Amino acid sequence: GILARHRRDPSRLLQILLAIQDQLGYLPPPAITFVAERLQLPRARVEGVAGFYSFLHLEPVGEYRVLFSDNATDRLLGNQELLETMCQKLWVEPGKVSEDGLVSVTTTSCTGMGDQGPALLVNGMPVTMMNHQRVNEICELIRHRKPLSQWPSEFFRVQDNICRRDWLLNSELIPGAALKVAVEKGSAGWLAEVQKSNLRGRGGAGFTTGVKWEACRNAPGRERVVVCNADEGEPGTFKDRVLLTSYADHVFEGMTLAAYAVGAHQGFLYLRGEYRYLLDHLLSVLARRRESGLLGSAILGQTGFDFDIEIHLGAGAYVCGEETALIESLEGKRGTPRIRPPFPVTKGYLGRPTVVNNVETLAKTVLVALEGGETFAAEGTSQSTGTKLLSISGDCAYPGVYEYPFGVEIRRILDDCGATDVQAVQVGGASGTCISSYEFHRSIAYEDVPTAGAFMIFDSSRDMFEVARNFIHFFAHESCGFCTPCRVGTSLLKNFMDKLAVGRGAKYDLVDIEWVNRLLKGASHCGLGAAAANPVIDTLVKFRPAYERRLQTLDFEPAFDLDQALAEARQMTGRDDAGAHLTSLEEE
Ligand code: SF4
Repeated sequence: GILARHRRDPSRLLQILLAIQDQLGYLPPPAITFVAERLQLPRARVEGVAGFYSFLHLEPVGEYRVLFSDNATDRLLGNQELLETMCQKLWVEPGKVSEDGLVSVTTTSCTGMGDQGPALLVNGMPVTMMNHQRVNEICELIRHRKPLSQWPSEFFRVQDNICRRDWLLNSELIPGAALKVAVEKGSAGWLAEVQKSNLRGRGGAGFTTGVKWEACRNAPGRERVVVCNADEGEPGTFKDRVLLTSYADHVFEGMTLAAYAVGAHQGFLYLRGEYRYLLDHLLSVLARRRESGLLGSAILGQTGFDFDIEIHLGAGAYVCGEETALIESLEGKRGTPRIRPPFPVTKGYLGRPTVVNNVETLAKTVLVALEGGETFAAEGTSQSTGTKLLSISGDCAYPGVYEYPFGVEIRRILDDCGATDVQAVQVGGASGTCISSYEFHRSIAYEDVPTAGAFMIFDSSRDMFEVARNFIHFFAHESCGFCTPCRVGTSLLKNFMDKLAVGRGAKYDLVDIEWVNRLLKGASHCGLGAAAANPVIDTLVKFRPAYERRLQTLDFEPAFDLDQALAEARQMTGRDDAGAHLTSLEEE
């Protein structure tokens, strides 16, 4: 049934494996063999895909699989203590399955609930606002093998937490209204409007949307594809979760607007595995839009304007947020970033010209259609037009989603969210920029402090070394392993930071960290590796005492004395003159 539903299409391999796992609990070897035979794929390919994604399991997992979100902000809220308590109460070691196969408890990367943490996923469902009482209740429910459907519904309540609305979050969209405006202008006229808006990608890189769309429209090939990147994996980001929850029509209408501009008939929304709980809601919005003639054939009665959207699920791989890795994943492969060029706009999904845009970018195109490109460009700054959604978490009174015109100063944001005694803000997630208190006059904009949306606040009681160490563990875990500098470099950095954390580091290690940073920047294949050392380098520069107080000695001390170790050899050869000592060689 599962294979037939997916038309035995190898490009749906990831979706097929997820569906099989839903039925069996994990992917036993016969299931891998079966899928490989039926899809006529090498078994190693199927196993390779199954082994790549952290939400796919080749070994049995607990009947209840608990994953504590382990972002730096979850740590501020005490997630580790809660995890330990849960493990003790359930008699299970962290990361292991209990002997009776009932439960496993471990950590995962940020689950996108930073505004209502500490959070966890249990069998894929998010539980927010964790505390000791909730841990006790969950342990009881698990011990009594209560199905999730019988758990208190408030456990699974995910709030939008919109704290500041501006243009987008204040806008109401009558489904189809923006499309009508675009269709009246014609596809070339609509594209020109997007170009006038100077809208730039909200996923972090800031590439101009109109330029991307035009390149795709002009690329040779008949079948074009629009992809919405809803793989919001950057630690500390959750604003796309809110858009997908409460502004799904904006997002789907934006995808359809993109399809109209580039001439695409096929669309995918790639939904991060952690947001799987939103799948039914998104499917129902899609169904409603189909019924209203806003998806399917001859949209709004326009012959040739045929477009539909499928939702593909991710499975816990941060690197899939990189657009070429995302395309590989959409094709049912491991999420390994591709070598560029060719760029996706000319050769993307299955070799077809493909536009990949972030959730927020697509939602913003609705404003461009409704208000006009020039009006859109008048908001924000000249290089960063429009507004930006921020996911604010950490040490502040009012964590949540805030929307500001670009150009807003960081200190204004801190005032608005009730943050006091702030020592640093990590803007843009783990790969972003650490802003210290003497930089709070800086502003959120591509030309100053760019961000995909994460804004994590740390007050003066926090240890910025530990924050950076958390981010390095994240990168070492999420490196896809394709290229050696990143695979080895992130793991080396993790080891350096762990060594410093237990007080075994020396000044020499700090020099090595800088060397690894240069290696990662210069030789990594994709942005993950290139940015992996950023949190350490930033904090080393801005919070150096946090590192230095951990150094056992400020100078390098070798673990053993090589000259002394050669004493026996000198005795045997009968040489003990100055030239036979390493110290004299160094002096020369
Ligand atoms: Fe994979 Fe890291 Fe190389 Fe990117 S830099 S391709 S994440 S190993």
